[in-house]
Amino acid sequence: MIISQHHVVTVSYQLFTPELSGNEKFIEQTTEDSPLEFIVGIGQLLPDFEQNLLGKKVGDTFDFHITAENGYGLPDPNAVVEIPKNVFFDESGNFDTETFQVGNTIPMVNSQGHRMTGIVKEVTNDFLKMDFNHPLAGCGLHFKGEVLGVRQADPSELAHGHVHGPNGHHH
Ligand SMILES: [Zn+2]
Repeated sequence: MIISQHHVVTVSYQLFTPELSGNEKFIEQTTEDSPLEFIVGIGQLLPDFEQNLLGKKVGDTFDFHITAENGYGLPDPNAVVEIPKNVFFDESGNFDTETFQVGNTIPMVNSQGHRMTGIVKEVTNDFLKMDFNHPLAGCGLHFKGEVLGVRQADPSELAHGHVHGPNGHHH
């Protein structure tokens, strides 16, 4: 069975991002216990990722690049904001310098109640500069991996928009 629309596909992969130096930085990989499993064509993954897998079958390997524009997008300068430091004070008015260090990731809730994750870019006496862009915004993506499984999605999986089974949803 070759990968096409509405198939459930299981892959293992490694993700790297090319750096200016010409080297590649390792970002993440699937493990034997938790491969990536998804339904083709319902918007679960980046369109370019799915596009590169169409026509492959179990045992085939892949090795492809996705541009930053077609990956997680380019960094949005408006997503870098300065937040008054007192927002981060605890009940006693203390500022936790351990937690709010440059490079740390801070889960936050915006005024509309949406959860978002920011990275601390700068800490001054008055404010924290936080970057809410996706950590891979502006990065090219290099995926290498292998197709581990291909099967037809069943109607309930298509209706729910997710994979059922050992590594998917149980209900
Ligand atoms: Zn379900």
